[in-house]
Amino acid sequence: MKNNNFYYLQCVLCKRKTTEKETVSVCLSCSGPLDVVYDYDALRLKLNTYLLRSAPPKTMKYLDFYPLARDRELITLDEGGTTLHKARNLAKKLGIKKLFIKNEGLNPTGAFKDRGSFVEINKAKELGFKSVVVASTGNMAASVSAYSAQAGLACYVFVPENTPRAKLAQSLSYGAKVIQIRGTYYDAANLAEKTSEKYGFYLAGDYVFRAEGQKSCGYELAEQMWREDIDWIIVPVGMGTNLSAIFKGLWEYYKMGLIDKLPRMVAVQAQNCNSIKKVSGEYKVTFIEKPNTICSAISCNKPLDGSKVIRALKETKGEIVTASDDETLIMQQLLSHSEALYVEPSAATTIVALQKLLRKGVIKALETVVCVATGIGLKDPAATLKVLSDPPTIEPDINEVTRVISGKLFSIRAQGVKEKEKIIFNRVPTDKEVKKIVKKEFTIDLSAVNLKLVAGDIKDFIKNKGKTIAKADLQSILENVIQQESHKNYLELIDFHIEDSKQKRPTARVEVKLNGKTYMSEGEGVGPVDAAINAIKKIIAKYDGIDFNIADFNVEIPTTGSDATVEVTMVLLEKRGNQVVEKGTSPDIIVASMNAFVAGYNELIYQFKNPTSSKSRGLGRKKL
Ligand SMILES: *Cc1c(COP(=O)(O)O)cnc(C)c1O
Ligand SMILES: [Zn+2]
Repeated sequence: MKNNNFYYLQCVLCKRKTTEKETVSVCLSCSGPLDVVYDYDALRLKLNTYLLRSAPPKTMKYLDFYPLARDRELITLDEGGTTLHKARNLAKKLGIKKLFIKNEGLNPTGAFKDRGSFVEINKAKELGFKSVVVASTGNMAASVSAYSAQAGLACYVFVPENTPRAKLAQSLSYGAKVIQIRGTYYDAANLAEKTSEKYGFYLAGDYVFRAEGQKSCGYELAEQMWREDIDWIIVPVGMGTNLSAIFKGLWEYYKMGLIDKLPRMVAVQAQNCNSIKKVSGEYKVTFIEKPNTICSAISCNKPLDGSKVIRALKETKGEIVTASDDETLIMQQLLSHSEALYVEPSAATTIVALQKLLRKGVIKALETVVCVATGIGLKDPAATLKVLSDPPTIEPDINEVTRVISGKLFSIRAQGVKEKEKIIFNRVPTDKEVKKIVKKEFTIDLSAVNLKLVAGDIKDFIKNKGKTIAKADLQSILENVIQQESHKNYLELIDFHIEDSKQKRPTARVEVKLNGKTYMSEGEGVGPVDAAINAIKKIIAKYDGIDFNIADFNVEIPTTGSDATVEVTMVLLEKRGNQVVEKGTSPDIIVASMNAFVAGYNELIYQFKNPTSSKSRGLGRKKL
């Protein structure tokens, strides 16, 4: 027996009523989003409120609220029932009494999308489809692929080509046929729609039935907080389906008399993808031509459910907030440091929003707030690693451990996460200023010797190309200097001069200090860097007699820091097999190369004289 007559579909914009036999995606008149509208009086009679109040949250507990026929076995991966984490440490840091994080990353594929896929894929099966097509920024694809695999449906997936690899790996492993599109999410969605029409595939995605599954998050929140009201719920918004679905769940419980207050909803968007705007008191949905954010899961330039989000914000006197990528990555770290919740950047935007609204006094310290952490951090580790340096690599030697632990490296790195592009110096500072700023930004006290070295490097940066010093630049300088701390400056570059004309090969004149004595030399090479290094190598060959060569040489323009900074990584290989990797940073590629070379040689000498020590090391080295 089919009992599909307890609901109908209705367009949110033009109010046209329709049925799932006609469309499972958008309104056939105006392409607006559809709602599933229930006969709530009938539903109320049917409800087992005792069960709702006493059994633990679980998707299957809400079967009466789903638009699914009950004459068949349902496909489920045990989605939902995620924990509501009480964030005591973070609450303290942000200055709020009660903060909860709804940990949606605990769903089977690592994001809340599974709640929606549960209803959607069961619906596709019920309607007799054999194949499903979906456009996605990654998580939807992973989830729809998983449920399709379980249901035995073929699954076609369209994603923008910059989709995080971990999410693609998931979809592919669930056996989906994945196609990457050179374009935005919007382009992918268009193609998915056309494909569904042409081939008669079920169009999965942020359409009418998805919200019906995702609203269970709203029921769960109400149940997990039976004993107290939630004042605010903060949700990241891409297509807007999740926020409006959570709101729908709460609204239904309110309508059923199960809760007596509706929380106020907060929508968070990425700063560079803020399609929904509030302009002089009026909300509107705009099209974002080129969304550009590390929050891939909310990078949707045309939110289909924008009008539903606006409805929820209006009905609850909600708020709309944006979060920049920098703010988001900082909060992602703060959340994992303080609560051991490693979430996707998109999910971390909720903490940015919370902090902003607390500072503005919109959210009060005594109110109760829930942030919906929509997905797990392991989905996109590359985004996180952008703000974290590679950990130091050392030899298995306790002295090496001491060097790292007693050095200031960890402190530099901990502080380096924040405000990487903040301009620190735009003119050559005095030594006193350097000392003060380093203390303030990196909480370390420079020794007199290191202060001289750091100040010298800063001067080089600014004088060389008249560039400013961003925080990331200062971090590299500090790391370089501190990394050298334990080694005597056996080789030091004092001065160099390059002659580079069209007529002949470049020549370099260099002045170095080697083991306390000053030497001058000239060299020639295919390029200026080569010439300068050849000049130094002559001195080394003559006075040190160490046989080595440059095994690898790599130039990288770091993504953060002032624009003209280059980072050179050099691998020096000594005859007996010792190998070192060191880096040099400067706005000038020649200076950066010389710094890397000098650092490399000092390390090589150190190893040469301490043969029990390492074969290769390099505290601050980046991946080649
Ligand atoms: C899909 C997704 C969002 C955005 O949800 P919408 O329903 O598109 O607004 C946010 N965070 C994560 C982790 C997601 O996967
Ligand atoms: Zn319509």
